[in-house]
Amino acid sequence: MKQLNNRNVVITGGARGIGFAVAEACLRAGAGVVLVDLKAEDLTIAADRLQGGDAVHCHACNVADEEQVKALAQALKATPGSLDALVNNAGITRDNLFMRMTTDQWQSVIDVNLTGSFLMARHLVGLIRKSEWGRIVNLSSVAARGNAGQANYAASKAGVIGLTKTLALELARYQVTVNAVAPGFIETEMTQAIPEAARDEWLRKIPAARPGKPSDVADAVVFLLSDDAAYITGTVIGVDGGLGI
Ligand code: NAP
Repeated sequence: MKQLNNRNVVITGGARGIGFAVAEACLRAGAGVVLVDLKAEDLTIAADRLQGGDAVHCHACNVADEEQVKALAQALKATPGSLDALVNNAGITRDNLFMRMTTDQWQSVIDVNLTGSFLMARHLVGLIRKSEWGRIVNLSSVAARGNAGQANYAASKAGVIGLTKTLALELARYQVTVNAVAPGFIETEMTQAIPEAARDEWLRKIPAARPGKPSDVADAVVFLLSDDAAYITGTVIGVDGGLGI
């Protein structure tokens, strides 16, 4: 019996990076996946790469737009089968030193990373609660403790931890667990965009002496989604090679 047999998992930002690796790991564990991302064409490419047949569904949706999230929830409601889990993975960066940060840079990151996680959980929780077994896993970051140049991102990822712990308290009685993973420096397009000197500085600080792979994070997410983690809720698991110690 595979870890996630017959479970259906919605993964935001599932078209690439960590979200795509989570989708691959969920499929390997026997789950069906619903990939949610901004661009339909990226979703089509991701679904082709996954080669999961009927176990893969895709929805284009901006998680920061409540009307789009409501429409997604309606579509999922009309889909046969249970909805068991949500992985709030979609995230963006708009880095700048605080003294230069624009309100637009601040707001766009809060909108996607924090409000997007709230909206997805808020509109999908009714479906997830239905089967008296549910999982929500939110992507925070080692940057939640503060990181120069990322006031917006750090605040959003610290907010995700507060959201996670509060939902864990409120949903435990429905057998829905809510946890977060806090990756360190993981090799994806997000970190490729970091200037070389800053990248080298991050890499020097990692006790494990290597950057993380998307699959390192995906393995932790699948554990939290599985029955093995049934009594774990409200926690934050660092996946960072020791960077967050
Ligand atoms: P990524 O490579 O940039 O991928 C993010 C995905 O999310 C992209 O497909 C992106 O679509 C999608 N997305 C962005 N805004 C969205 C929105 N409003 N609605 C729906 N989808 C949206 O990022 P990643 O490195 O895999 O990171 C995944 C998560 O882990 C993020 O929450 C990130 O903050 C967190 N994290 C990453 C690291 C790291 O080192 N990589 C470290 C700590 C935490 P587009 O391509 O169209 O923009």
